Amino acid sequence: MTATKSMAASGTSGWRNSVRHAAFWAFALAIWLGCGGASAQDTAGQEAARRAMVLAHSPSDAAKVLFGREVTPKAAQVQAIGAYERGCLSGAVALPADGPNWQVMRPSRNRAWGHPVLIAFVERLAQRLPAEAGWPGLLVGDIAQPRGGPMLTGHGSHQIGLDADIWLTPMPNRRLSPAERDEIAATDVVAADGMDVDPATWTPQHRRLLEAAAREPMVARIFVNAAIKRALCRETGPDRAWMSKIRPWWGHNYHFHIRLSCPSGDAECHRQAPPPPGDGCGRELDWWFTEEVLHPPPSPPAKPLRLADLPRACASLVGAPAGQALQVRGSVQ
Ligand SMILES: [Zn+2]
Repeated sequence: MTATKSMAASGTSGWRNSVRHAAFWAFALAIWLGCGGASAQDTAGQEAARRAMVLAHSPSDAAKVLFGREVTPKAAQVQAIGAYERGCLSGAVALPADGPNWQVMRPSRNRAWGHPVLIAFVERLAQRLPAEAGWPGLLVGDIAQPRGGPMLTGHGSHQIGLDADIWLTPMPNRRLSPAERDEIAATDVVAADGMDVDPATWTPQHRRLLEAAAREPMVARIFVNAAIKRALCRETGPDRAWMSKIRPWWGHNYHFHIRLSCPSGDAECHRQAPPPPGDGCGRELDWWFTEEVLHPPPSPPAKPLRLADLPRACASLVGAPAGQALQVRGSVQ
């Protein structure tokens, strides 16, 4: 059922419907703009409430409904299928909840699944960071669902198992309990006005962490809040070719987002053009601090992706929509 149909069927007054409608779109816009920013912080209870609300307003063949209910990976050839923001993943593996230099956060979401290449990368990076960046270890946020695909809450991308969110909070020197991992807040390193980092929380180790990640050849892009990019532009010396990979984006003040390039053997993975050369510190960065970016006018988000909008091979990874036979055009490759 669509949001409109649902509200037309259940509402008793036009005024109440329009208020609900506006509230829903404001909520959806916040998710879309945040790219997981605001909702990445949500506790387990808040996350469950958001999922229920999105489910209630989504058509049964919405890709996020079908992929969101899969709780195990598809045991098949490893393959990132499609684009970062329109695709799926077969043969996913999970990042273990604990490693020598990492801890998986928000475990109740079941989003620590990824392409084996990404999972191995995160494990390697985590172990190098204490010596290389003075960073004790990674608190790992959302990676992907067991079969990738769109999620009920947060994230336009993270669909093919090659994106990972890393908290801007250093790993504590003890193991957090599962309950703590679902509840504690991450560190916001951006000042309240969004114009720069917050000197009370931003440290030299944050810069070294981002540099260590960006220097990795497998990393295609790293998304951060524009205020973080501004700080890196100011604090980085002349050896700054790695800065081209640091891309400003909405949200990303509590976590940053690592995106790997398509692995060489994954023929179905859509390659993204590399970021433009240069450090990205000039006029293109200034735009991020204009009124239209800091305080954008509300607008309805795009319609949710249907299963048919994803690459055909993705249909074989999920069960049929409720009450329907699975419609697959042509053969599944
Ligand atoms: Zn992300």
